[in-house]
Amino acid sequence: MGAISLRQVEKTYGHGPKAVKVIHGVNAEIPDGEFIVIVGPSGCGKSTLLRMVAGLEEITGGEIDIGGRVVNKLEPAERDIAMVFQNYALYPHMSVYDNMAYGLKIQKVPKAEIEVRVQKAAKILELGALLDRTPRQLSGGQRQRVAMGRAIVRQPQVFLFDEPLSNLDAKLRAQTRLEIQKLHRELGVTSLFVTHDQVEAMTLGQRLIVMNGGRIEQIGTPEAVYGQPATTFVASFIGSPPMNLLTGSADGSRFTVGGQVLPLPSAAPRGGALTLGVRPEHASLHADGAWPLQVEMLEMLGAERLVYGRLGDAAFTLRIDGTLVPPRPGDTVRLHVPREHMHWYDGSTGRRVEG
Ligand code: ADP
Repeated sequence: MGAISLRQVEKTYGHGPKAVKVIHGVNAEIPDGEFIVIVGPSGCGKSTLLRMVAGLEEITGGEIDIGGRVVNKLEPAERDIAMVFQNYALYPHMSVYDNMAYGLKIQKVPKAEIEVRVQKAAKILELGALLDRTPRQLSGGQRQRVAMGRAIVRQPQVFLFDEPLSNLDAKLRAQTRLEIQKLHRELGVTSLFVTHDQVEAMTLGQRLIVMNGGRIEQIGTPEAVYGQPATTFVASFIGSPPMNLLTGSADGSRFTVGGQVLPLPSAAPRGGALTLGVRPEHASLHADGAWPLQVEMLEMLGAERLVYGRLGDAAFTLRIDGTLVPPRPGDTVRLHVPREHMHWYDGSTGRRVEG
């Protein structure tokens, strides 16, 4: 029903010599009922893509299909979608009830049906006691729930979320994340959620679309995107602290980084210019470790500790158990990295090379 298909979707702003292409032929198939998150840094084209699906931006190339209908030329109201915005976009002078009911009134849905839908949404979102209030009398989190309620009552084929949690404080954001997950479990509506926050993306998405510069870098489950990043961009964007990326040159089972030779447990996938990626939690302190790390700084985070240092002239971060006796700045410690946790990338394209 609510599957979304993006086929060679392009967007160019402006015309003639002032034209700027910001989306470069994006392809994605989103099955009915999936919760998918578009994630990437500011300016990568996430909102533009979402707004094109919503019908708020013209599509300048390719096709967008929702529920088996090409929607390129359809008005937002004809697309059977509902959008939740960052700034809530509530009517300030209307009650919570009327805010949720308004869209249905415009669609001439019978009053009794509106009552049923609003009460149902209010129950799901625990807004029952707030229906007579105006948005001014609500907290940020409650306002965002009303904005979601307004989307739910429309019973659309697709929910579109444009950074809906950005205006909430950290605690409320975590709580609302769980509410959105619960909502999706209950309603099962196809959802496209835009965020620049990788934690939000990892925790909410059944799959992630990682974007960079108007292009898709990788589409995959959180496990796949974290476990096998397709490019150095994804490797450094998903995960905090980011994956260590060592630029160097491989020759058999030796990898040279800025004059420092790092022995490998087995031969690199090929010789020449490569980037070797290692997540901070996948290197460990080990007396017989093959790599010498000069420790520069430490950060205690409670359950874990971050150790910042250098392998030759390359920066390297290590995540260790907070209960371990830590090394001290100035120490040189030995690192062990298992073969299965080494990620290889082409030195010039940044694309993954299978080892
Ligand atoms: P994101 O949501 O990932 O931050 P956007 O989709 O808002 O990115 O923007 C993508 C690119 O398109 C940016 O480089 C931005 O400057 C440009 N852009 C957005 N809206 C317009 C516009 N109306 N006219 C020209 N360029 C725009």
